[in-house]
Amino acid sequence: MPRYNTYRPYIKEKLGYRVNKLSVDMGFTCPNRDGNLAVGGCVYCNNDSFVPPYARARFSMHQQITNGMDYLKKRFKAEKFIVYFQSYTNTYDSVEKLEEMYRNALKYEDVIGIAVGTRSDCIDEEKISMFEELAKDYYVSLEFGIESIYDKTLEFMNRGHDYQSVLDAIEMSKGRGFEIGAHIIVGMPTETKEEMLAMAGEVSSLGIDVFKVHNLHIVRNTPLARMYRKEPFSLFNFEEYIDFIIEFLERLSPDMVIERLFTDTPHQLLIAPDWGKSHLQILQAIEAELERKDTYQGRLYQKNA
Ligand code: SF4
Repeated sequence: MPRYNTYRPYIKEKLGYRVNKLSVDMGFTCPNRDGNLAVGGCVYCNNDSFVPPYARARFSMHQQITNGMDYLKKRFKAEKFIVYFQSYTNTYDSVEKLEEMYRNALKYEDVIGIAVGTRSDCIDEEKISMFEELAKDYYVSLEFGIESIYDKTLEFMNRGHDYQSVLDAIEMSKGRGFEIGAHIIVGMPTETKEEMLAMAGEVSSLGIDVFKVHNLHIVRNTPLARMYRKEPFSLFNFEEYIDFIIEFLERLSPDMVIERLFTDTPHQLLIAPDWGKSHLQILQAIEAELERKDTYQGRLYQKNA
């Protein structure tokens, strides 16, 4: 019996297939890179650190989708695909252009849905209505980067929006027929461990369906890498993080589906922390610790009255 609500069985049961996400980079930017809000982007952000090699804006969408399918079929025996608009802010354009792009991705026979990563300040009622329409025929997931519930951290990150903006965007998205995804980053030097743990209860109250937690990685070619070199600060070591994530899971709603519990950064881009562990080893350590402590997701969850 799994001790937390994992994504793979959830999505297989929901869609009826073995489904893989296929990332595409459609050459978007975002408002705090293009000067609309700021330049330089969020302090931790280097998009090369989380997209696979076939998802590059220099390739057409057709090339990215067909190459991605070949790769995922060979490597993971994938049957069906969710095209994941992952890099930068994938709702940062007119609703007409966005709808055309999403519908083009949905034309492929084995594509059964889309997942769209965005910022809370790049969504509005018109775009939400468009997603609602698409969700009548396809699986649609809209994923918000919450990053933190604390404005002091959002400011440090140079996010260019506050937490209220996230609350407004999620409120607007609820009950519209598509799935709501969200992720946070834990380990920012602006937060205490207690503040990070308190995020579990708060995000559980928002109406999020699928959730990801990233532990802070210092990645090359980012403003944070320059800050860290100048003045290093403490990051979770492996043992500390395993303890932390167990405590976090215990405080999370048992209903939320967990898609990710830690960050994967290609070794050549990672500055710190270098745990020297594979993805599988980290997952196994989390599962073993849940077992050892005989605990599970939601054990300490307190639903607000
Ligand atoms: S994390 Fe997202 S919003 Fe921030 S700079 Fe990177 S792409 Fe833009």
